[in-house]
Amino acid sequence: MGKLMIIGCGGVASVAIHKCCQNSDVFEEIMIASRTVSKCDALKEKLQGITKTKITTAKVDADNVEELTALIKSYAPDAVLNVALPYQDLTIMDACLAAGVDYIDTANYEPEDTDEPEWRAAYEKRCKEAGFSAYFDYSYQWAYAKKFEEAGLTALLGTGFDPGVTSVFAAYAKKHYFDEIHTIDILDCNGGDHGYPFATNFNPEINLREVSAPGSYVENGKWVEIPAMSIKREYDFEGVGQKDMYLLHHEEIEALAKNMPEVKRIRFFMTFGQSYLTHMKCLENVGMLSTTPIDFNGQKIVPIQFLKALLPDPASLGPRTVGKTNIGCIFTGIKDGKEKKLYIYNVCDHQECYREVGSQAISYTTGVPAMIGAAMVLTGAWKKPGVFTTDEFDPDPYMEALNKWGLPWKVDENPVLVD
Ligand code: NDP
Repeated sequence: MGKLMIIGCGGVASVAIHKCCQNSDVFEEIMIASRTVSKCDALKEKLQGITKTKITTAKVDADNVEELTALIKSYAPDAVLNVALPYQDLTIMDACLAAGVDYIDTANYEPEDTDEPEWRAAYEKRCKEAGFSAYFDYSYQWAYAKKFEEAGLTALLGTGFDPGVTSVFAAYAKKHYFDEIHTIDILDCNGGDHGYPFATNFNPEINLREVSAPGSYVENGKWVEIPAMSIKREYDFEGVGQKDMYLLHHEEIEALAKNMPEVKRIRFFMTFGQSYLTHMKCLENVGMLSTTPIDFNGQKIVPIQFLKALLPDPASLGPRTVGKTNIGCIFTGIKDGKEKKLYIYNVCDHQECYREVGSQAISYTTGVPAMIGAAMVLTGAWKKPGVFTTDEFDPDPYMEALNKWGLPWKVDENPVLVD
C-alpha cells in the first residue's frame, strides 16, 4: 500500500519498525533514517530476512531542515514517522511541508535548550497566561495547522500510548459509553522491575525532565499547578497490584481540555517506587537534572545529558525487565440520565514484549501505537488536512488495530475511582 520514512532508531523506533515489518500489506517499503546509521543498518540486517517490507536506511540530522527535506524528496514516502526526540518535531514538520508529505509523531515539541532567550520569553509568557510550567506544550505544533491545511497534508500528533492511546480511549468512551463525560483520570502504571537501582524506561533526558516538573491538572477549564510529586494516591492495578501513583503534568491533558471542553476535570497519574523518587530527588538536588550547560575542564557539559550517558540505555532493559504495565483511563459521567463510570485499559507484559520484538513494555506500548497511527494515515482511515491529536478522529479503526497488533484492551464498567 505505501511507503513510510521513520526518523530515529532508538527504543520506541525499534518497536515501531518491527511492527511495520509485521504489517507489510500497509508498509510495503520503509526507510529508517537516523543520526547513527549503524543502528539503522543493524536493525535492517535483523529484519530483512523475515519480512516482506523492503527496508532501506540513511543517515540524517533531523535538526537540519534542508538535509532532511532533500532526503524526504529523494525517497518520496507517503508519510514521515518521527520517533526521534521532541526536539526535532518542528524541523521535521517543516521538512514534511517542504516535501509535501504527511507527518506523525509520539510526543509534543520541547526545545533542547530551555535557556534560549526567544523561547524562554515565550515560555514565561505562556506560564503566566496558561497556568502550567512544563517545558513542553502543543502551541508550537498547533501553530502549524493552517500550513498543513493549505498544503492538504495531515499531521497526527502524539500517537504513542500516553499521549496517543489514552486519547483514543477518551474518544471511544465518548462515542460508545457516555452522553456526557465529567472526569477523566489517566493512570499509567509500570509494575516492571529491571533490577538496576536507577534507570529510566525511555530516553532519560526527556523522562527526567517530565517527572521532575511541577504537576498540573485541568479543573473547570483552568490549569491547577502543584509542586512536583505532591499529590499521591494508591491504586490496585490488575496484573500489577497495589502501587503508589503521583499526579503529573502530561501533554494529553492539554489536547483533551481543548477538544472536550465539557469534561470538568482531567488528571494524569504515574506510578513510581520510593527508590526511583529518592534517586531523582538526589540527582535534582545536586544539579544533575539541569539543562543549563556548565564549564567543565574547558568543555561545555549539559548535566542532564552527562547523566544520560551514565544511565543504562533504555533499549538495553528488555532482557532484564519482568512484570507488567497497566495503562488506561477512568471516566465518570452520565449515560441515559444515569451516573456511569468506566475504566478502559491495557495490560502489557514486559517479557512477552521482549520475546516478540526484543524490547521492554514501555518501548512496546509506545512503538505499537506509533505504527498504528502511521497505518491510519497511510490507509486514509485518519486523513484530513491540518494538525490533529488522536482524540480528533473516529476511534473505532484504531481500537480494532490495538487488539490486532498486540495491545488488547479491556473495559471495566465498575472500577474503583481515584479520590
Ligand atoms: P531514544 O533516545 O531511545 O531514541 C531517539 C532516537 O532519535 C535515536 O535513534 C537518536 O539517534 C535519534 N535522534 C536524536 N536526535 C536526532 C537528530 N537530530 N537527527 C536524527 N536522529 C536523531 O528515545 P526513545 O525511543 O525512548 O523515545 C523516542 C520518542 O518517543 C521521544 O520523542 C519520546 O518522547 C517519545 N515517547 C513517547 C511516549 C508516549 O507514550 N507517547 C512514551 C515514551 C517515549 P542516536 O542513535 O544517534 O542517538
